[in-house]
Amino acid sequence: METYAYGFPHYGTNREYKKLIEGFWDKKVSEEELRSGLESLERERIDLYQKYVDYFPSGEMTVYDPMLDMAVMLGIYTCENLDQYFYLCRGKNALDLTKWFNTDYHYLVPEISSIPSPSKVRSAKKRFKKLRVQEQGIPYLIGPFTFLKLSKVYEKDKFEQHLLALAEAYAELIQDYDLIHIDEPAFVQDITDHEKELIRRAYKIMNQAHKDIFLFTYYDSVDFLEELYQLPVKGIGLDLIYGSRNLDFILEHGFPDDKILIAGIVDGRRALWRTDIDKAVEMVNELSLYAPDFMISNASPLYHLPITIEGEEQLDSWLLEQLSFARERLYELQLISQVYEGEVEESPEWYTPRDQKYFTVDKQLQRRLKKLQEADFARSTPHTERVKIQKKVLNLPLFPTTTIGSYPQTKEVRKARAGFKSGRVSKQDYDTFVSEKISDLIRFQEDVGLDVLVHGEFERSDMVEFFAQKLNGIATTKNGWVISYGTRGYRPPIIYGDISRSEPMTVKEVAYAQSLTDKPVKGMLTGPVTIIAWSYVRDDIPIHEVAYSIALCHQDEIKDYEKNGIKIIQIDEPAFREKAPLKRRDWAAYFDWAIKAFRLASHAKPETQIHTHMCYSEFSEIIDYIVDMDFDVISIEAARSRADIIQVFSKIEFSRQIGLGVWDVHSPAVPAVSQMEAIVKEVAKVVPIENIWVNPDCGLKTRKWEETIASLKNLVKTAQRLRKKYTSS
Ligand code: GLN
Ligand code: ZN
Repeated sequence: METYAYGFPHYGTNREYKKLIEGFWDKKVSEEELRSGLESLERERIDLYQKYVDYFPSGEMTVYDPMLDMAVMLGIYTCENLDQYFYLCRGKNALDLTKWFNTDYHYLVPEISSIPSPSKVRSAKKRFKKLRVQEQGIPYLIGPFTFLKLSKVYEKDKFEQHLLALAEAYAELIQDYDLIHIDEPAFVQDITDHEKELIRRAYKIMNQAHKDIFLFTYYDSVDFLEELYQLPVKGIGLDLIYGSRNLDFILEHGFPDDKILIAGIVDGRRALWRTDIDKAVEMVNELSLYAPDFMISNASPLYHLPITIEGEEQLDSWLLEQLSFARERLYELQLISQVYEGEVEESPEWYTPRDQKYFTVDKQLQRRLKKLQEADFARSTPHTERVKIQKKVLNLPLFPTTTIGSYPQTKEVRKARAGFKSGRVSKQDYDTFVSEKISDLIRFQEDVGLDVLVHGEFERSDMVEFFAQKLNGIATTKNGWVISYGTRGYRPPIIYGDISRSEPMTVKEVAYAQSLTDKPVKGMLTGPVTIIAWSYVRDDIPIHEVAYSIALCHQDEIKDYEKNGIKIIQIDEPAFREKAPLKRRDWAAYFDWAIKAFRLASHAKPETQIHTHMCYSEFSEIIDYIVDMDFDVISIEAARSRADIIQVFSKIEFSRQIGLGVWDVHSPAVPAVSQMEAIVKEVAKVVPIENIWVNPDCGLKTRKWEETIASLKNLVKTAQRLRKKYTSS
């Protein structure tokens, strides 16, 4: 039985990818060094593929983002060199950054007004070769439907025309190859009948090239398998882990004789538990009855997993022995194939059933969960009343200014934390260091003239990992980096047991910050949904129980904040939207627990102002759910996508306060006052001005101090100008 793997992480075990590219930006790495560095990284990846599996794609190594690669390859953007390519990734003219399906990867959104002709595509393809990092394997492309669906198409009614033109362009792109790997994850979304018809026509056009296509879908099941079976492709990759309905369909309706089933049976995503090899072989045996010609593969791209468990020996050995990262997934594919072929017996050391005793440890928590009642999920006073109480307590000006939490994590800060972690810096010295940073920052924020201050999150490495390290029942890795966008990575924690809080997690720093100023200091928590979304989560209990356990810890934390005189608390939920299932029919169940978890967490006194923060959260679709979260203030991204926001708020009457993220912090550019003012003025046409806050669109962790100082000065000036304008007119 043959094996196929795709999407193996290109980040490098020691984050070489990040170091190379960021080094190039900082002019510390030459173009030649960058190229040879990326090439050796790619070599390592290919060596691994070759060691474990029979087939794999080529061209997965991007210098920033695969969606942008597609757009450049198609000639939608012209890039003669790396600088021109990176120009689209960062800086003033960067493309929008948006979540890739319901994962924690973010892609650059191409903007499409027309599709280049096949002859233009031909020259673009040639140009793109210069940006490519070696090619070995089956050429990989994001399919035309997914590409267009995920791009920004200005004239919505041109979707059909564009897709058919794209199909011609793709026919040109695939001309030089015999076999092509095409990813169409958008096929697992809700697809209309019209779209199905368009997909059929597009693939027919592509088929003019008479090439063999392996078409991959993943992250969920495909609702139109019957039609998918009819497409002129050679192989179909299906996710049988997150798309269990795919499996049901095959068992009921079989699989076409003239196609290869590429059965995704090894988890590429959320649960890190090792594959039960015997069970997998059993499934393969069953599948083989329905699909005469088949291979096995990972169920979704492997870049959502860290590279390897090797080097994670600090984890409890019982836990380590349950885990499988990307490299181990390749090994599992090989093992399944070998067991299936009778070449080896299942090695008993690989998979052992999980021992329940490690999972259920906290009786007190379980009692608390059982006792939860309706009232625990609601605040005692409606927000319309809370507004009045809070106004008196806080006494803020019109257009209050604030920041989202983190301030530049300079080398100095990272060095101190690393020193503390490794034991080189004593706890006392580290605490003193953090306290100094906090007091400097309080002074800075007062000087700049911000209205609601923060403590700066200097003690936090990552907003999820930090809490994971404080909470019981969650493990963190040393080197389990996963790409989040471009060159950015993070280390998702592993939720394996019952979650509880032994002591306050964040109160000391925030209370200290508050003791230094008369202005309100905002307490800062990462919400339950985001902790779950950016972690690997145990799957032996219902997800809502995991969420409520975290929420109860937050509730206790908020009580401690209140005791310490903190009047504003922000619960960050940047992953609230991305965690939503891909199919609408699954939304109600998801939002039910997600909203309840937020409400349980934010069960505060009426005078405590609860903020939430969501960054790039395609707002319009979830606005009804968002209102149900019952916060007092929400901060959202408004610099890149203001038109969308205006549209949403012009349609509904949103009576809560909104923090407009008018400064795009993912770009080093300093926003001009006029630019930020213009955004607020436009929004002020559809939102009452008393409800508008002015802030950056996310934390300032990755920014430099110079940019931060200049930008915040402008931000405060923006608010001052607005106050003048709206109080005098
Ligand atoms: N409070 C966090 C910070 O400022 C929020 C980050 C986020 O939304 N991604 O870093
Ligand atoms: Zn954010």
